[in-house]
Amino acid sequence: MTNPATHARLDTIAHDAGTLHIASTPLPRLVEMVGRTPCYIYDRDAITQRVAALRAALPAQVKLHYAIKANPMPALVAHLGQLVDGFDVASQHEMLVALSAGMSAASISFAGPAKRDAEVRAAVAAGVCLNVESELEIERIARHGAELGVAPRIALRVNPEFQLKGAGMKMGGGASPFGIDAERVPAALAQLSSLGLRCAGLHLYCGSQNLNAAAIVEANRLSLEFALKIAQDCATRFEFINIGGGYGIPYFAGERALDLEAVGAGLAQLFQRHAAALEDLQVIVELGRYLVGEAGYYVTRVVDIKKSQDKLFVMVDGGLHHHLANSGNFGQVLRKNYPVVIGNKLADEPALVVTIAGPLCTPLDIVADKLPVPSLAVGDLVVVLQSGAYGYSASPLLFLGHPAPPEILV
Ligand SMILES: *Cc1c(COP(=O)(O)O)cnc(C)c1O
Repeated sequence: MTNPATHARLDTIAHDAGTLHIASTPLPRLVEMVGRTPCYIYDRDAITQRVAALRAALPAQVKLHYAIKANPMPALVAHLGQLVDGFDVASQHEMLVALSAGMSAASISFAGPAKRDAEVRAAVAAGVCLNVESELEIERIARHGAELGVAPRIALRVNPEFQLKGAGMKMGGGASPFGIDAERVPAALAQLSSLGLRCAGLHLYCGSQNLNAAAIVEANRLSLEFALKIAQDCATRFEFINIGGGYGIPYFAGERALDLEAVGAGLAQLFQRHAAALEDLQVIVELGRYLVGEAGYYVTRVVDIKKSQDKLFVMVDGGLHHHLANSGNFGQVLRKNYPVVIGNKLADEPALVVTIAGPLCTPLDIVADKLPVPSLAVGDLVVVLQSGAYGYSASPLLFLGHPAPPEILV
Protein backbone atom coordinates (compact mmCIF):
# COMPACT_ATOMS: atom_id res chain seq x y z
CA MET A 1 0.00 0.00 0.00
CA THR A 2 1.18 3.48 -0.77
CA ASN A 3 1.40 5.76 2.22
CA PRO A 4 -1.59 8.06 1.65
CA ALA A 5 0.45 11.05 2.83
CA THR A 6 3.19 10.69 0.23
CA HIS A 7 3.42 11.28 -3.49
CA ALA A 8 4.49 8.29 -5.60
CA ARG A 9 6.76 10.48 -7.71
CA LEU A 10 8.89 11.53 -4.72
CA ASP A 11 10.46 8.05 -4.61
CA THR A 12 11.86 8.38 -8.11
CA ILE A 13 13.47 11.83 -8.23
CA ALA A 14 17.23 11.98 -8.72
CA HIS A 15 19.27 13.83 -6.14
CA ASP A 16 22.77 14.11 -4.79
CA ALA A 17 23.78 15.67 -1.49
CA GLY A 18 20.28 17.08 -1.12
CA THR A 19 20.22 18.73 -4.52
CA LEU A 20 17.70 17.77 -7.19
CA HIS A 21 19.28 16.60 -10.44
CA ILE A 22 17.55 16.83 -13.79
CA ALA A 23 19.22 15.13 -16.75
CA SER A 24 22.21 14.41 -14.47
CA THR A 25 22.73 18.12 -13.82
CA PRO A 26 22.28 19.83 -10.45
CA LEU A 27 19.23 22.09 -10.42
CA PRO A 28 21.13 25.28 -9.39
CA ARG A 29 23.39 24.89 -12.42
CA LEU A 30 20.39 24.57 -14.71
CA VAL A 31 18.84 27.67 -13.17
CA GLU A 32 22.11 29.58 -13.71
CA MET A 33 22.05 28.40 -17.28
CA VAL A 34 18.49 29.58 -17.87
CA GLY A 35 19.36 32.81 -16.08
CA ARG A 36 16.18 33.28 -14.08
CA THR A 37 13.29 31.80 -12.21
CA PRO A 38 10.52 30.87 -12.62
CA CYS A 39 11.25 28.46 -15.44
CA TYR A 40 10.11 25.15 -16.87
CA ILE A 41 12.70 22.39 -17.32
CA TYR A 42 11.91 19.26 -19.34
CA ASP A 43 14.06 16.13 -19.20
CA ARG A 44 14.66 14.68 -22.67
CA ASP A 45 15.85 11.26 -21.40
CA ALA A 46 12.82 10.89 -19.17
CA ILE A 47 10.62 11.23 -22.25
CA THR A 48 12.76 8.75 -24.20
CA GLN A 49 12.54 6.26 -21.34
CA ARG A 50 8.80 6.68 -21.03
CA VAL A 51 8.29 5.82 -24.67
CA ALA A 52 10.63 2.84 -24.31
CA ALA A 53 8.62 1.60 -21.32
CA LEU A 54 5.43 1.84 -23.37
CA ARG A 55 6.98 0.00 -26.31
CA ALA A 56 8.13 -2.75 -23.95
CA ALA A 57 4.78 -3.14 -22.21
CA LEU A 58 2.27 -2.73 -25.04
CA PRO A 59 1.79 -5.21 -27.90
CA ALA A 60 4.23 -4.44 -30.73
CA GLN A 61 1.46 -3.68 -33.18
CA VAL A 62 0.23 -0.65 -31.19
CA LYS A 63 1.03 2.64 -32.90
CA LEU A 64 1.86 5.36 -30.40
CA HIS A 65 0.69 8.91 -31.00
CA TYR A 66 1.54 12.01 -29.02
CA ALA A 67 -1.29 14.52 -28.35
CA ILE A 68 0.53 17.82 -28.75
CA LYS A 69 -1.88 19.79 -26.61
CA ALA A 70 -0.24 18.31 -23.49
CA ASN A 71 2.98 20.21 -24.27
CA PRO A 72 3.50 21.92 -27.61
CA MET A 73 7.07 23.18 -27.01
CA PRO A 74 8.61 22.78 -30.49
CA ALA A 75 11.89 21.21 -29.32
CA LEU A 76 10.01 18.69 -27.19
CA VAL A 77 7.62 17.88 -30.04
CA ALA A 78 10.59 17.39 -32.37
CA HIS A 79 12.20 15.04 -29.85
CA LEU A 80 8.99 13.02 -29.60
CA GLY A 81 8.79 13.01 -33.40
CA GLN A 82 11.82 10.71 -33.36
CA LEU A 83 10.16 8.34 -30.90
CA VAL A 84 6.46 7.99 -31.67
CA ASP A 85 4.50 6.94 -34.76
CA GLY A 86 2.28 9.97 -35.10
CA PHE A 87 0.96 13.20 -33.63
CA ASP A 88 -2.53 14.32 -32.71
CA VAL A 89 -3.22 18.01 -33.08
CA ALA A 90 -6.25 20.15 -32.35
CA SER A 91 -5.53 23.48 -34.03
CA GLN A 92 -3.86 24.79 -37.14
CA HIS A 93 -0.98 26.08 -35.01
CA GLU A 94 -0.41 22.62 -33.49
CA MET A 95 -0.61 21.15 -36.98
CA LEU A 96 2.19 23.44 -38.13
CA VAL A 97 4.28 22.56 -35.06
CA ALA A 98 3.74 18.87 -35.88
CA LEU A 99 4.70 19.27 -39.54
CA SER A 100 7.71 21.44 -38.65
CA ALA A 101 8.89 18.70 -36.28
CA GLY A 102 9.21 16.47 -39.34
CA MET A 103 6.22 14.20 -38.83
CA SER A 104 4.69 12.98 -42.09
CA ALA A 105 1.27 14.48 -42.83
CA ALA A 106 -0.39 11.06 -43.07
CA SER A 107 0.70 10.31 -39.48
CA ILE A 108 -0.88 13.48 -38.09
CA SER A 109 -4.51 13.52 -37.05
CA PHE A 110 -6.44 16.74 -36.53
CA ALA A 111 -9.30 16.58 -34.01
CA GLY A 112 -11.21 19.56 -32.62
CA PRO A 113 -14.94 20.01 -32.18
CA ALA A 114 -15.26 23.48 -33.74
CA LYS A 115 -12.80 23.56 -36.58
CA ARG A 116 -12.93 26.88 -38.41
CA ASP A 117 -13.28 26.78 -42.15
CA ALA A 118 -9.70 27.99 -42.61
CA GLU A 119 -8.43 25.19 -40.38
CA VAL A 120 -10.34 22.54 -42.34
CA ARG A 121 -8.91 23.93 -45.57
CA ALA A 122 -5.37 24.03 -44.17
CA ALA A 123 -5.65 20.46 -42.92
CA VAL A 124 -6.95 19.23 -46.29
CA ALA A 125 -4.16 21.12 -48.06
CA ALA A 126 -1.54 19.62 -45.73
CA GLY A 127 -2.85 16.08 -46.22
CA VAL A 128 -3.25 15.36 -42.52
CA CYS A 129 -6.06 13.12 -41.32
CA LEU A 130 -9.13 15.06 -40.21
CA ASN A 131 -10.91 13.48 -37.27
CA VAL A 132 -14.40 14.56 -38.26
CA GLU A 133 -16.61 15.74 -35.42
CA SER A 134 -19.93 16.40 -37.21
CA GLU A 135 -21.96 15.78 -40.35
CA LEU A 136 -21.63 19.42 -41.38
CA GLU A 137 -17.86 19.13 -41.16
CA ILE A 138 -18.02 16.29 -43.69
CA GLU A 139 -19.61 18.64 -46.22
CA ARG A 140 -16.99 21.29 -45.60
CA ILE A 141 -14.14 18.83 -46.00
CA ALA A 142 -15.67 17.60 -49.26
CA ARG A 143 -15.96 21.18 -50.56
CA HIS A 144 -12.36 22.10 -49.68
CA GLY A 145 -11.10 18.83 -51.11
CA ALA A 146 -12.85 19.54 -54.40
CA GLU A 147 -11.61 23.14 -54.52
CA LEU A 148 -8.04 22.15 -53.73
CA GLY A 149 -8.04 19.06 -55.94
CA VAL A 150 -6.96 16.92 -52.98
CA ALA A 151 -8.53 13.67 -51.73
CA PRO A 152 -8.98 14.44 -48.02
CA ARG A 153 -7.77 11.94 -45.45
CA ILE A 154 -10.62 11.35 -43.01
CA ALA A 155 -11.45 9.49 -39.81
CA LEU A 156 -14.73 9.69 -37.94
CA ARG A 157 -14.56 10.71 -34.33
CA VAL A 158 -17.18 8.70 -32.48
CA ASN A 159 -18.97 9.80 -29.34
CA PRO A 160 -19.12 6.37 -27.71
CA GLU A 161 -22.08 5.07 -25.73
CA PHE A 162 -19.85 3.97 -22.87
CA GLN A 163 -17.80 5.87 -20.29
CA LEU A 164 -14.20 5.46 -19.22
CA LYS A 165 -14.61 4.57 -15.55
CA GLY A 166 -12.36 6.45 -13.17
CA ALA A 167 -11.18 9.05 -15.66
CA GLY A 168 -10.30 12.45 -14.23
CA MET A 169 -12.01 14.05 -17.21
CA LYS A 170 -14.72 12.14 -19.03
CA MET A 171 -15.28 12.71 -22.72
CA GLY A 172 -17.95 10.26 -23.79
CA GLY A 173 -21.01 8.33 -22.67
CA GLY A 174 -23.75 10.93 -23.01
CA ALA A 175 -24.45 14.12 -24.91
CA SER A 176 -21.11 15.56 -25.93
CA PRO A 177 -19.64 18.30 -28.10
CA PHE A 178 -17.05 15.75 -29.28
CA GLY A 179 -17.55 13.48 -32.23
CA ILE A 180 -20.59 11.91 -33.83
CA ASP A 181 -22.94 9.80 -31.69
CA ALA A 182 -22.21 6.10 -32.11
CA GLU A 183 -25.64 5.30 -33.54
CA ARG A 184 -25.22 7.90 -36.30
CA VAL A 185 -21.85 6.55 -37.48
CA PRO A 186 -23.36 4.26 -40.18
CA ALA A 187 -25.24 7.25 -41.63
CA ALA A 188 -22.06 9.36 -41.56
CA LEU A 189 -20.18 6.61 -43.40
CA ALA A 190 -22.95 6.58 -46.02
CA GLN A 191 -22.71 10.36 -46.30
CA LEU A 192 -18.96 10.08 -46.89
CA SER A 193 -19.31 7.54 -49.65
CA SER A 194 -22.10 9.51 -51.32
CA LEU A 195 -19.60 12.38 -51.54
CA GLY A 196 -16.95 10.06 -52.95
CA LEU A 197 -14.86 10.20 -49.77
CA ARG A 198 -13.10 7.32 -48.08
CA CYS A 199 -13.05 6.79 -44.31
CA ALA A 200 -9.56 5.76 -43.20
CA GLY A 201 -10.46 5.05 -39.61
CA LEU A 202 -12.39 5.64 -36.43
CA HIS A 203 -11.33 7.68 -33.42
CA LEU A 204 -12.77 7.00 -29.97
CA TYR A 205 -11.61 9.07 -27.05
CA CYS A 206 -13.35 8.52 -23.74
CA GLY A 207 -11.39 10.47 -21.15
CA SER A 208 -8.16 11.50 -19.53
CA GLN A 209 -6.06 11.02 -16.40
CA ASN A 210 -6.98 7.43 -15.58
CA LEU A 211 -4.83 5.40 -13.18
CA ASN A 212 -6.98 2.27 -13.39
CA ALA A 213 -5.52 -0.27 -15.84
CA ALA A 214 -8.63 -2.47 -15.85
CA ALA A 215 -10.88 0.49 -16.72
CA ILE A 216 -8.59 1.50 -19.59
CA VAL A 217 -8.51 -2.02 -21.00
CA GLU A 218 -12.29 -2.29 -20.72
CA ALA A 219 -12.77 0.99 -22.61
CA ASN A 220 -10.27 -0.24 -25.21
CA ARG A 221 -12.23 -3.48 -25.59
CA LEU A 222 -15.51 -1.65 -26.08
CA SER A 223 -13.86 0.74 -28.58
CA LEU A 224 -12.27 -2.02 -30.60
CA GLU A 225 -15.40 -4.17 -30.63
CA PHE A 226 -17.50 -1.17 -31.66
CA ALA A 227 -15.13 -0.48 -34.57
CA LEU A 228 -15.09 -4.11 -35.70
CA LYS A 229 -18.87 -4.28 -35.60
CA ILE A 230 -19.23 -1.07 -37.62
CA ALA A 231 -16.71 -2.34 -40.16
CA GLN A 232 -18.74 -5.51 -40.54
CA ASP A 233 -22.21 -3.91 -40.52
CA CYS A 234 -21.22 -1.22 -43.00
CA ALA A 235 -18.90 -3.43 -45.09
CA THR A 236 -16.16 -0.86 -44.60
CA ARG A 237 -12.45 -1.56 -44.44
CA PHE A 238 -10.74 0.77 -42.03
CA GLU A 239 -7.00 1.37 -42.16
CA PHE A 240 -6.84 2.15 -38.45
CA ILE A 241 -8.76 2.57 -35.27
CA ASN A 242 -7.62 5.07 -32.70
CA ILE A 243 -8.74 3.67 -29.35
CA GLY A 244 -7.74 6.76 -27.39
CA GLY A 245 -5.58 6.70 -24.29
CA GLY A 246 -6.32 8.42 -21.03
CA TYR A 247 -3.27 6.97 -19.24
CA GLY A 248 -2.83 9.04 -16.09
CA ILE A 249 0.12 9.98 -13.91
CA PRO A 250 0.01 10.22 -10.10
CA TYR A 251 -0.38 13.89 -9.19
CA PHE A 252 -1.65 13.66 -5.64
CA ALA A 253 -0.69 11.98 -2.39
CA GLY A 254 -1.88 8.38 -2.18
CA GLU A 255 -2.28 7.93 -5.94
CA ARG A 256 -0.44 5.02 -7.47
CA ALA A 257 1.24 4.97 -10.86
CA LEU A 258 -0.70 3.27 -13.64
CA ASP A 259 0.12 -0.44 -13.93
CA LEU A 260 1.46 -0.36 -17.47
CA GLU A 261 2.16 -4.11 -17.49
CA ALA A 262 -1.52 -4.75 -16.76
CA VAL A 263 -2.60 -2.47 -19.59
CA GLY A 264 -0.18 -4.26 -21.92
CA ALA A 265 -1.35 -7.71 -20.84
CA GLY A 266 -5.01 -6.70 -21.24
CA LEU A 267 -4.41 -5.33 -24.70
CA ALA A 268 -2.41 -8.39 -25.75
CA GLN A 269 -5.32 -10.61 -24.72
CA LEU A 270 -7.78 -8.43 -26.56
CA PHE A 271 -5.64 -8.42 -29.71
CA GLN A 272 -5.31 -12.18 -29.54
CA ARG A 273 -9.06 -12.59 -29.36
CA HIS A 274 -9.48 -10.44 -32.48
CA ALA A 275 -6.29 -11.51 -34.23
CA ALA A 276 -7.91 -12.21 -37.59
CA ALA A 277 -9.70 -8.87 -37.75
CA LEU A 278 -6.57 -7.02 -36.70
CA GLU A 279 -4.33 -8.44 -39.38
CA ASP A 280 -4.78 -5.42 -41.61
CA LEU A 281 -6.11 -2.92 -39.07
CA GLN A 282 -3.74 -0.61 -37.21
CA VAL A 283 -4.49 0.19 -33.58
CA ILE A 284 -3.45 3.64 -32.40
CA VAL A 285 -3.09 4.73 -28.78
CA GLU A 286 -2.85 8.47 -28.29
CA LEU A 287 -1.23 9.85 -25.17
CA GLY A 288 -0.44 13.30 -23.88
CA ARG A 289 0.47 13.68 -20.22
CA TYR A 290 1.66 10.09 -19.83
CA LEU A 291 4.52 10.81 -22.25
CA VAL A 292 5.63 14.18 -20.91
CA GLY A 293 4.01 14.97 -17.56
CA GLU A 294 6.61 13.38 -15.30
CA ALA A 295 9.48 14.80 -17.36
CA GLY A 296 8.65 18.40 -16.47
CA TYR A 297 9.62 20.62 -13.53
CA TYR A 298 8.33 24.10 -12.73
CA VAL A 299 11.03 25.90 -10.77
CA THR A 300 10.38 28.95 -8.59
CA ARG A 301 12.41 30.82 -6.02
CA VAL A 302 11.54 31.98 -2.51
CA VAL A 303 11.30 35.80 -2.40
CA ASP A 304 9.75 36.33 1.05
CA ILE A 305 8.78 34.45 4.19
CA LYS A 306 6.19 35.89 6.52
CA LYS A 307 3.76 35.07 9.26
CA SER A 308 0.07 35.90 9.25
CA GLN A 309 -1.72 34.97 12.46
CA ASP A 310 -0.93 31.29 12.96
CA LYS A 311 0.14 30.61 9.36
CA LEU A 312 3.60 30.79 7.83
CA PHE A 313 3.62 31.93 4.21
CA VAL A 314 6.47 31.25 1.86
CA MET A 315 6.18 33.62 -1.08
CA VAL A 316 7.67 32.53 -4.41
CA ASP A 317 8.19 34.26 -7.75
CA GLY A 318 5.96 31.88 -9.73
CA GLY A 319 2.42 30.60 -9.50
CA LEU A 320 -1.00 30.27 -11.07
CA HIS A 321 -0.26 32.45 -14.13
CA HIS A 322 2.38 29.91 -15.25
CA HIS A 323 0.92 26.74 -13.79
CA LEU A 324 -2.83 26.91 -13.48
CA ALA A 325 -3.23 23.16 -12.94
CA ASN A 326 -0.96 23.17 -9.90
CA SER A 327 -3.04 25.95 -8.35
CA GLY A 328 -6.05 23.62 -8.44
CA ASN A 329 -8.04 25.70 -10.92
CA PHE A 330 -7.84 23.44 -13.98
CA GLY A 331 -10.74 21.07 -13.48
CA GLN A 332 -10.18 20.00 -9.86
CA VAL A 333 -13.09 20.09 -7.44
CA LEU A 334 -11.04 20.10 -4.24
CA ARG A 335 -7.55 21.59 -4.36
CA LYS A 336 -4.77 19.12 -3.57
CA ASN A 337 -1.00 19.60 -3.65
CA TYR A 338 1.08 18.41 -6.55
CA PRO A 339 4.37 16.93 -5.35
CA VAL A 340 6.41 20.02 -4.39
CA VAL A 341 10.02 19.85 -3.17
CA ILE A 342 12.73 22.25 -2.09
CA GLY A 343 15.20 21.52 -4.88
CA ASN A 344 18.31 22.57 -2.95
CA LYS A 345 17.32 21.05 0.41
CA LEU A 346 16.10 17.53 -0.34
CA ALA A 347 18.16 15.97 2.44
CA ASP A 348 16.94 18.33 5.18
CA GLU A 349 14.35 17.07 7.63
CA PRO A 350 10.96 18.81 7.63
CA ALA A 351 10.88 21.52 10.27
CA LEU A 352 7.80 23.60 9.46
CA VAL A 353 4.41 23.39 7.82
CA VAL A 354 3.86 26.27 5.40
CA THR A 355 1.61 27.63 2.71
CA ILE A 356 3.51 28.47 -0.46
CA ALA A 357 1.90 31.29 -2.42
CA GLY A 358 2.70 33.04 -5.68
CA PRO A 359 2.92 36.71 -6.65
CA LEU A 360 -0.62 37.23 -7.97
CA CYS A 361 -3.14 39.36 -6.14
CA THR A 362 -5.70 36.60 -5.83
CA PRO A 363 -6.19 34.02 -3.07
CA LEU A 364 -6.30 31.38 -5.81
CA ASP A 365 -2.53 31.67 -6.32
CA ILE A 366 -1.48 28.78 -4.09
CA VAL A 367 1.57 26.71 -5.02
CA ALA A 368 1.31 24.29 -2.06
CA ASP A 369 -0.83 24.29 1.08
CA LYS A 370 0.02 22.77 4.49
CA LEU A 371 3.31 21.50 3.12
CA PRO A 372 5.95 20.16 5.53
CA VAL A 373 9.30 21.74 4.58
CA PRO A 374 12.77 22.12 6.08
CA SER A 375 13.83 25.57 7.34
CA LEU A 376 13.70 27.86 4.36
CA ALA A 377 15.49 31.02 3.30
CA VAL A 378 14.99 33.60 0.59
CA GLY A 379 16.62 32.21 -2.57
CA ASP A 380 15.67 28.56 -2.00
CA LEU A 381 14.26 26.75 -5.03
CA VAL A 382 10.67 25.51 -4.76
CA VAL A 383 10.02 22.93 -7.47
CA VAL A 384 6.68 21.58 -8.64
CA LEU A 385 7.05 18.06 -10.04
CA GLN A 386 4.71 16.40 -12.59
CA SER A 387 4.70 19.66 -14.54
CA GLY A 388 5.55 18.57 -18.06
CA ALA A 389 1.95 18.57 -19.29
CA TYR A 390 -0.77 21.24 -19.19
CA GLY A 391 1.61 23.74 -17.59
CA TYR A 392 2.98 26.57 -19.71
CA SER A 393 0.46 26.28 -22.54
CA ALA A 394 -2.56 25.70 -20.30
CA SER A 395 -2.03 28.72 -18.05
CA PRO A 396 -3.16 32.37 -18.19
CA LEU A 397 0.32 33.72 -18.93
CA LEU A 398 -0.91 37.29 -19.40
CA PHE A 399 -2.78 37.47 -16.09
CA LEU A 400 -1.21 40.29 -14.06
CA GLY A 401 1.49 40.92 -16.62
CA HIS A 402 4.45 39.04 -15.16
CA PRO A 403 6.93 37.75 -17.75
CA ALA A 404 6.35 34.30 -19.22
CA PRO A 405 8.73 31.64 -17.86
CA PRO A 406 11.53 30.36 -20.09
CA GLU A 407 11.24 26.69 -21.07
CA ILE A 408 14.20 24.42 -21.73
CA LEU A 409 14.55 20.80 -22.79
CA VAL A 410 17.73 19.29 -21.38
C1 LIG B 1 -6.59 15.93 -24.41
C2 LIG B 1 -6.62 14.82 -25.35
C3 LIG B 1 -5.60 13.87 -25.36
C4 LIG B 1 -4.48 13.87 -24.36
O1 LIG B 1 -4.94 13.67 -23.05
P1 LIG B 1 -3.91 13.25 -21.90
O2 LIG B 1 -4.74 13.16 -20.69
O3 LIG B 1 -2.89 14.34 -21.82
O4 LIG B 1 -3.29 11.97 -22.30
C5 LIG B 1 -5.64 12.89 -26.31
N1 LIG B 1 -6.63 12.83 -27.23
C6 LIG B 1 -7.65 13.74 -27.25
C7 LIG B 1 -8.70 13.62 -28.28
C8 LIG B 1 -7.68 14.74 -26.32
O5 LIG B 1 -8.69 15.62 -26.33
